[in-house]
Amino acid sequence: MSVGAMCDRAITAIESIKGDYNKNVAYYNKEIHEEYMREQKLIADFDEAIEAEEFEIYIQPQTSLTTGRCESGEVLVRWCHGEDGMISPGVFIPVFEKNGMVARLDRYIWEKACQVLNRWEKEGKGEMSLSVNISPRDFYYMDIAKEFSKLIQKYQINPAKLNLELTESAFVREQEQMLELLERLQSLGFSIEMDDFGSGYSSLNTLKDIPVDVLKIDMGFFSDTDAKSRSRKIVEMVVQLGKSLGIAVIAEGVEKEEIVTFLKEVGCDMIQGYFFAAPMPVDTFESRYFSE
Ligand code: C2E
Ligand code: CA
Ligand code: CA
Repeated sequence: MSVGAMCDRAITAIESIKGDYNKNVAYYNKEIHEEYMREQKLIADFDEAIEAEEFEIYIQPQTSLTTGRCESGEVLVRWCHGEDGMISPGVFIPVFEKNGMVARLDRYIWEKACQVLNRWEKEGKGEMSLSVNISPRDFYYMDIAKEFSKLIQKYQINPAKLNLELTESAFVREQEQMLELLERLQSLGFSIEMDDFGSGYSSLNTLKDIPVDVLKIDMGFFSDTDAKSRSRKIVEMVVQLGKSLGIAVIAEGVEKEEIVTFLKEVGCDMIQGYFFAAPMPVDTFESRYFSE
């Protein structure tokens, strides 16, 4: 084998233990090779997939606990791959985040979401809002505020109808730049949602400095674990915290009625989860939630 090929493999093996401080040695094996080949295939298929419009948006309803109605939805990407069928974003987003392709994909998805909002507005369904996801990697590849201000102009969108989700961990790095960006986005009229709240280690500290509009409580708090009663106390506290800071709270990943009842009791604002519905194609969402 050539030295170049051996180096590539060594680097791939090292990548597999990146961030794991308990390991000093990594071996290149069949699994790593297969994983690498899978990733390479996703990367190689990307351009064609954009061209063939294989990336689609799905929408998951967010239900208000005050009105009991679906008032907004989260836009989640799906890849309807020509050969491999439906691929979930959990598989390809991390791959595209590694090499920066995620920025191109996100821009594409945001535009699709804006087209939907534009159409709804024309059809008199302008009450519904949508949330889109922003990858922390997007910052390195574009001026996010400029991107969104172009989009709202192009599609004549009320920015209050387009919410921007940023994962909690994105707020940790480069706090100052982040703060500046969020201020620009908020002054344009967008709502900022802190996604996966409580899954990282920065939460309270960042809340102090960064004026987000919405908190999305991470689904980890609603799984069935031994620590159920502790989780509930934390959720209750987060909801109260949100109220006193004037931040709306969405609970994500809610699957059971029992949890819906609990969230109503503690005064949570919105719920998103399989209990109400899984993400669905845009036309299904429309037929379900616009004829309510
Ligand atoms: P996320 O932003 O935290 O989105 C929520 C994920 O939880 C979605 O998975 C959704 O289908 C799933 N989910 C919703 N309700 C429930 C529930 O009751 N139980 C369980 N177990 N899961 C639930 P999905 O669609 O597979 O997306 C996974 C992740 O991929 C997203 O997590 C987000 O980080 C990323 N992602 C999806 N679409 C995009 C996108 O357009 N751009 C970027 N940058 N990331 C995206
Ligand atoms: Ca999200
Ligand atoms: Ca989330």
